[in-house]
Amino acid sequence: MRQKIQTSVIGSYPVFINTQEIMNLYFTEQPIPWAPYIRQAVQDMTTAGITNVSDGQTRDPFIQLFTRKMKGCRVRQRPEIIGKVQYQDPITVDDQIYAKRLLPRHTKLIGVLTGPYTLAKSSVDSFYHDEKELAFDFATALRKEAEHLVKHVDFISIDEPVFSNELPEYASELLQTITKDLSCQTRLHVCGDVSGIIPQLVDMPVDILSHEFKASPHLFEGFIEYPCKKHMCIGAVRSDEVRVESVEEIVTHVRKALSVFDGNISQISPDCGQRLLPREHAFQKLKNLALAGEILNGG
Ligand SMILES: [Zn+2]
Repeated sequence: MRQKIQTSVIGSYPVFINTQEIMNLYFTEQPIPWAPYIRQAVQDMTTAGITNVSDGQTRDPFIQLFTRKMKGCRVRQRPEIIGKVQYQDPITVDDQIYAKRLLPRHTKLIGVLTGPYTLAKSSVDSFYHDEKELAFDFATALRKEAEHLVKHVDFISIDEPVFSNELPEYASELLQTITKDLSCQTRLHVCGDVSGIIPQLVDMPVDILSHEFKASPHLFEGFIEYPCKKHMCIGAVRSDEVRVESVEEIVTHVRKALSVFDGNISQISPDCGQRLLPREHAFQKLKNLALAGEILNGG
């Protein structure tokens, strides 16, 4: 019997943020209460029936979320590297602990890390002048965050969107810095058109590969050529389009994926984080994804 398909998110989720209130608190140097925002995100995901949820990454966009709290980084419009990048204190751990408290039984929590290469490429480097060295220092810092996260989350997802534009020859070694001997499963999420790097992806040191198969259905043909022993997380609803895919459309898409990957699908998800969608559309897409999951699992 083939494995059960779990429904999952990638990371970010759109919530209603009271910007005025946050600005007022920020300028009067008062703590900003993020819990209500995390709760909105987690409750939407669990109400929709998703089995693997995240904290919604509500606090910051995914680059600033990590660089803001690392030594050596100064956050401007783009983060600037002004010294050696080093881990200081846990970055996302408190949000994950809070999110976990909100979960129904059997719902799993994903620890989401922005990948070291994406962090390096998104920063203005005024210190290293060596992209590889910077990327490896980010990876070492992220490994420390991962070691804290494994105590609270069910698996860790590394988000490396830049890989689809530019894959460094040391990509595998870079990811290994984070994933080696980690005591939980790991997922690599690379959105964009990854058709040119499939041979490298299937050998990455992670357990699950996650790609945008809905926006880029030609990826199915690409993967047929390179047998993949990894578990797959199939993007089954778009994150860049408000149209809500019907349950039937999602089921048809995933059945195609099951034939391509010989049943080796462990998760279905949106193509990417849902931050840019209106909340009601993001929610409805998750709801249909969950219903499609039930049908595919024979429920
Ligand atoms: Zn993505």
